[in-house]
Amino acid sequence: MYRLALIGNPVKQSKSPEIHQQFFEQTSLKGTYELIPVDQVELEGKINWLKAEGYHGFNVTVPFKEKIIEYLDEIVGPAKAMQSVNTVSIQNNRLVGYNTDGEGYVLSLNEAYPDFLSDVKHKRILIIGAGGAAKGIAYQLNKYAFQSIDIINRTAEKARQISRSLNHSRALSLGMAKDILEQYDLIIQTTSVGMSPNNHEQIISLQGVKPNAIASDIIYKPKWTSFLQDAEQRGCRILFGESMLLYQAAKAFQIWTGQEIKDFVN
Ligand code: NAP
Repeated sequence: MYRLALIGNPVKQSKSPEIHQQFFEQTSLKGTYELIPVDQVELEGKINWLKAEGYHGFNVTVPFKEKIIEYLDEIVGPAKAMQSVNTVSIQNNRLVGYNTDGEGYVLSLNEAYPDFLSDVKHKRILIIGAGGAAKGIAYQLNKYAFQSIDIINRTAEKARQISRSLNHSRALSLGMAKDILEQYDLIIQTTSVGMSPNNHEQIISLQGVKPNAIASDIIYKPKWTSFLQDAEQRGCRILFGESMLLYQAAKAFQIWTGQEIKDFVN
């Protein structure tokens, strides 16, 4: 019987319990996935409690993806490179941190638009935001030889930090990105702006965007963010946040149970 959970604040809006329930059914494994709201001051105590209670692992969301690292025994793969953890496994009393966000994102992109990753040399990407999810996504996309992966963020220094870790990348201001919007083949909205209940909010207007560019928002509530509605009206191809959610969850499920999820019900 697997015991899994999500810690963060807030967590009540999460769709992860239903996704993991679906994975348990698909793999004929038994288990539970709980939502555990955690305050800043409780974090260490809650982690010790999860260990003592025999949980097999947990997901980590806002605002603990970086803070959690000091309580882990080891961090591996993209989590180590980007210093951001969204999945923790507990084995033999050891806590190991992973990041499945970026891998999940690239899998979702590849599923929706398989041609996009097969010819990358002349393609430009714009990432809006420089938080935990943006870091993971940038890290995975950097494995492909894109012409450039540009970043904009409210806190410019965070955009510069990610940009410095990538092969061909610039940290731009919002104004600069707007001026060259028609150059981008993929625009990824990774900030929390536009998330329910602030559905009408949007960081950047897509005026001037290349009509067949892919517009991607990793927010999944609502499904049609203001950003994606704008993109659709301008003829862009759309990638929904719920697809990434499914794939990053499948990667986490595999870390905890060893079972690969092959069939996805979107
Ligand atoms: P995070 O680390 O807290 O980063 C938040 C990002 O949003 C930062 O770039 C932040 O800019 C920006 N931001 C927040 N409020 C803003 C505002 N008012 N104006 C401009 N920028 C603002 O969070 P995260 O983990 O990266 O998650 C970000 C979003 O992605 C959330 O909505 C989350 O639900 C979603 N998400 C989806 C998936 C999925 O599977 N679909 C996975 C992970 C996350 P500053 O750096 O300036 O603060």
